[in-house]
Amino acid sequence: MNTKFLEKEFDYLKPATLNGALEILAEKPNVKVFAGGTDLIVKCKTGAPVDMDYMLDINAIDELKAIASGDDGRLELFTNAKLSTIEKDERVIKDYPALAAAIRAMASVSVRNMASIGGNFCNASPVADAVGPVMCYKGVLRLLSKRGEREVAAEDFFLAPGVSVLEKDELFHAISLPAPAANTGSAFIKLGRVKSDIAKISITVVIERDDERIADCRIAMGSIAAKPLLVADIGQSLAGKAVTQKLIDATASEISAFIKPIDDNRTTAEYRTDVAKVIAQDAIAAAWKASGGKL
Ligand SMILES: Cc1cc2nc3c(=O)[nH]c(=O)nc-3n(C[C@H](O)[C@H](O)[C@H](O)COP(=O)(O)OP(=O)(O)OC[C@H]3O[C@@H](n4cnc5c(N)ncnc54)[C@H](O)[C@@H]3O)c2cc1C
Repeated sequence: MNTKFLEKEFDYLKPATLNGALEILAEKPNVKVFAGGTDLIVKCKTGAPVDMDYMLDINAIDELKAIASGDDGRLELFTNAKLSTIEKDERVIKDYPALAAAIRAMASVSVRNMASIGGNFCNASPVADAVGPVMCYKGVLRLLSKRGEREVAAEDFFLAPGVSVLEKDELFHAISLPAPAANTGSAFIKLGRVKSDIAKISITVVIERDDERIADCRIAMGSIAAKPLLVADIGQSLAGKAVTQKLIDATASEISAFIKPIDDNRTTAEYRTDVAKVIAQDAIAAAWKASGGKL
């Protein structure tokens, strides 16, 4: 039930600097970061337990909203880059189109204007749409605290629904996306009950092509397990193979047999298992064609 108000009392803190934010995380107990609030405030209002004595609003820290070109053609998406900024960024549209597509498939324009990329990760939902593309583009996450900095591969960030490797004193700082190799193609497909709904199932495929063969393939799926999943072994097994419809069909069947989805209020495990095959066929074919490959 939406109570329309925040039941629990907390202190509201809005530091102007990154260091100020890290100090608060190091010194205060029960801090929750507020970026766009599109997950956090909903949880506070709908009665889900949010253990929070301090709300740390990071919106006065401009550097955390940036999208920056880094070394070796990398793109750095800082944590509070708003989804609507990312989906319109020319570098994202050109080099990471599956990420732009995943963000366009999320929520509404008004939610995407508030919501951040870091929030989509830190909420640690199995359905988070931006996660699959970041995994498939080999994104590395930078986590900061007063103790130092560490990097985590996107696929190693999630532990369970709502739980990630982020420690209580750490701030999710940025996502670093390596420059895609030549002849890379990608695709993102999401099925929901209605447009703008969260996913019943989603898939991302990124293929690096070497002539008529796959040099590298990464496949990630959402809403089919307790956390967003990189289907690493099946993707890797395609390396060196020539692409035919037979290969695509066999891979899609393998994916459908591999996943272990559950029934929930959006759909059934049976639907997810069946439709996984169809969206896998479509996404692999689309990514292959986007890489310049022929079928
Ligand atoms: C109507 C509606 C529709 C939605 N549709 C979709 C959808 O289709 N697909 C989808 O994936 N999501 C959807 N969402 C969920 C949500 O919009 C996204 O997950 C969004 O990216 C969250 O970002 P935020 O900045 O609002 O996060 P917040 O709510 O500010 O934070 C989310 C969580 O992450 C933590 N956090 C945030 N930033 C940091 C940080 N830098 N360091 C440490 N912890 C941090 C917060 O403390 C909180 O626990 C929807 C939400 C709404 C309200």
